[in-house]
Amino acid sequence: MSAHLTTVAGVNVDTRHWIGGERVASAETFTDVSPVDGSTLGEISRATGREAAAAVAAAKAAFPGWAATPRAERARILRAVADGVEKRLEELAVVETADNGALLRSHRRGVIPRVAHNFRFFADWLLELEHQDFTTHRGGSAADRGHTNHVSWDPAGPCVLITPWNAPLMLATWKVAPALAAGNTVVLKPAEWSPLTASLLADIAAEAGLPAGVLNVVQGYGSEIGDALTSHPDVRRISFTGSVPTARHIAASAAANLTPLSLELGGKSPLLVFADADLGLAVDLAVEQYDNAGQVCLAATRILVEEPVAEEFTRRFVEKASRLIQGDPRDEATDIGPTIHPRQLEKIDGFVRRALASGARAVIGGHRGEGQYYAPTLLTGVAQDSEIVQEEVFGPVLTLQTFADEDEAVRLANDTRFGLAATVATGDPGRAERVAAQLVAGTVWVNCFFVRDLRAPFGGSRDSGVGREGGTWSFDFYCDIKNTVTAPKGWENHG
Ligand code: NAD
Repeated sequence: MSAHLTTVAGVNVDTRHWIGGERVASAETFTDVSPVDGSTLGEISRATGREAAAAVAAAKAAFPGWAATPRAERARILRAVADGVEKRLEELAVVETADNGALLRSHRRGVIPRVAHNFRFFADWLLELEHQDFTTHRGGSAADRGHTNHVSWDPAGPCVLITPWNAPLMLATWKVAPALAAGNTVVLKPAEWSPLTASLLADIAAEAGLPAGVLNVVQGYGSEIGDALTSHPDVRRISFTGSVPTARHIAASAAANLTPLSLELGGKSPLLVFADADLGLAVDLAVEQYDNAGQVCLAATRILVEEPVAEEFTRRFVEKASRLIQGDPRDEATDIGPTIHPRQLEKIDGFVRRALASGARAVIGGHRGEGQYYAPTLLTGVAQDSEIVQEEVFGPVLTLQTFADEDEAVRLANDTRFGLAATVATGDPGRAERVAAQLVAGTVWVNCFFVRDLRAPFGGSRDSGVGREGGTWSFDFYCDIKNTVTAPKGWENHG
């Protein structure tokens, strides 16, 4: 077997970069460790600025050909990628679970099918994207009449896509698929804690007939190669999903070239439970926030409950949460897996210890489990301005606060620097509408959570991000939008 292949759960994964349609190795490697059992999954090529620059050069060279490829052909290839993902669904699912520790059953039934959907959805959208034509009748002067405006969505150029570890392939393809559909070429930099499925995606894309250089994958540490990618003058778009401090760094690096940015960042989303809510549903929604061991940007980690039902809600929450099974994510019965990395575990534990030291009470959990596991935790007695209420923990840690009325609920919900999502549990449609209108959030769910239609805009307000992706918003971001104005026949310029 090649020195550059590693076998993970029976699946061969190439540990090198994928640049210009070829596998490229770096002199240095980094060790990829499984959060499931601490086993070594592989020695992965660790890029330097040289490989980063080579990937951008490959993307630049491939751009004119891909941009000129007819839409129907681009869509056909993207659908072939979706077919390839579905054909290798089980392989992708087991490798992803080994690499990031999220539940195998979620990967099998939800996440990897969504990866295929990402490609099919944007292939369809590409074919349906109508160029807009309209005739001027409200120009600046009386002479500006009858002109045709033709608005087109043109490919923009090479895109750098940088993604996190909590849903590696799903989040990567949420960017890769629209970027490619738009006619752009891509350099994907997956997170160093979960590099493997991006390498499998490169194989699948090549098998589907994606031309060399259209998709490039560079492995390595963002802190080492990030700047080489994000400050590169040939890069026309940067889309980043990750933490706020990294986003600030990337924005500064991109500023030199004024490269347009899309930033999908952290959150501290609220779940508002009103006394008129179906309490069983509200408890289900709250317990669901432990999914992926709480390592979900959208997680509603601040539970806000109306005072009269707080006691009953807490009792039912504890009853349900206590039945959750924490353990090996490969086991179908498991509900909560490990945290991604010892450093993440330390971070989570630090947040909880500081909260407990300043007077919070753990209704459940509040401590580590075995190995890299953290016990699902619910904290009460937390002040609104405390660290545990204001900062993203990114672990299975929820807080519970109460409110007296709708105004207070909205005030507490909006009182962080984030604005990614919010969930409202209420039996009153009028209240749902009123409250949703006042919440600062990119997505508001009413009596549901995590329902995603890819046509809908997705993104965050405040520190949770810049811009929106999804449906037409993705094309708006990944394209250069152009308006071509044509004079009517016989028009004379009197200007
Ligand atoms: P992170 O910011 O540490 O890393 C994300 C990516 O950025 C990684 O690939 C990393 O290598 C790279 N990176 C690091 N330094 C860089 C630099 N200087 N230049 C360029 N790239 C660099 O984030 P993380 O810990 O991997 O992910 C967790 C965060 O992501 C959480 O805050 C979470 O809320 C957020 N997230 C947001 C969404 C969303 O859609 N809004 C989705 C998932 C995760």
